[in-house]
Amino acid sequence: MVIESRTRYFEEIFPKSPSYRLRQFEAAFFTPGFRSVQDITTLSKGDREALKNCPWLSLKGVRVLSAKKGDTYKAIMTLHDNKEIESVLMQNARGHWTLCVSSQIGCAMACTFCATGTMGFTRNLTVDEIVDQYRFWMMFLEDRPELPERITNIVFMGMGEPLANYKNVKETIQTILKHTEIGPTRITVSTVGLIPMLTQILNDETWPPVRLAVSLHSADPKTRTDIMPSSYPQFLDKLYEWTEKYFAKFASRRRHLTFEYVMLSKVNDTSEHAKALIRFARRVGKVRINLIPYNFTGEVYRDSLPADFARFESELREAEVLVTRRRTMGDDIAAACGQLVVENSKVKTKV
Ligand code: SAH
Repeated sequence: MVIESRTRYFEEIFPKSPSYRLRQFEAAFFTPGFRSVQDITTLSKGDREALKNCPWLSLKGVRVLSAKKGDTYKAIMTLHDNKEIESVLMQNARGHWTLCVSSQIGCAMACTFCATGTMGFTRNLTVDEIVDQYRFWMMFLEDRPELPERITNIVFMGMGEPLANYKNVKETIQTILKHTEIGPTRITVSTVGLIPMLTQILNDETWPPVRLAVSLHSADPKTRTDIMPSSYPQFLDKLYEWTEKYFAKFASRRRHLTFEYVMLSKVNDTSEHAKALIRFARRVGKVRINLIPYNFTGEVYRDSLPADFARFESELREAEVLVTRRRTMGDDIAAACGQLVVENSKVKTKV
């Protein structure tokens, strides 16, 4: 029997149960030390017996790979339908952990530089399947006292386009906010830039106040469409209009916005591209540009030459655009951005 949602399952078994009992049940899945429904002693023995088919994790199996440096772990998780997803734990600058979760199996956005994008789309993940990526790592760290214990940040930058699985991603974030100490500004949802969904966020009073990162990758419409098939000629204007509404609605600096920019040699890293990016960033205003070193996913692209990367970065800085550079982690276990794939790893590690 496949249980799609623990909450629905509880409600089916105990249709008349008062709501505090459901809350106790849901909270138990985040209680340190608990490893099965039988540990939920706030429930009577009879109730626990009635729930005995409810699995503790919605994952059928997990393989964990560890990067040589010991600062990155990747889990390949097998789901009930034997599909696989990947989830990555990275040590952050403060010595805690940042968790990168997947929101879909595969991805329909088909970004040409992304390994997940080239695999196509299989299905959305359920709330439990996304939440359980966090819970798996929580238990993993509980069992390893020699490792830092706290996961302080979550990024929706694993497999999939989170805003194409809006409802489940939103419910996942609400669950995490309810049951962990992670606050909304420590959660980042990264999107390819689905304007209708970004607009929905502005109109959705129950969307949690998390940070957003938009994968821009080029401020030149033609280049962006070439490398990201989900783009279209008016995209930049539409995105600009959206940012105006976003800043009008969320004036707080804590809600700051990031544009991600993967550095592809000669494709989007020339001075012309820097100029286009500077123009767009200035037009938008309060935005941070996060330059991402390209992680190898196939022969089509090369990472920017160090000199080109440095020039591009300093051109932005000189134009007073706020710019940061993302550290590459876990590339030796194909756990870096864009290297997450379904089933047999197609990613060849660069030698
Ligand atoms: N679907 C979401 C999440 C993707 S993964 C999105 O499009 O934003 C997070 C980031 O990694 C995105 O900015 C994505 O474009 C980037 N990325 C994809 N492939 C990459 C690669 N090979 N090297 C570096 N970054 C990559």
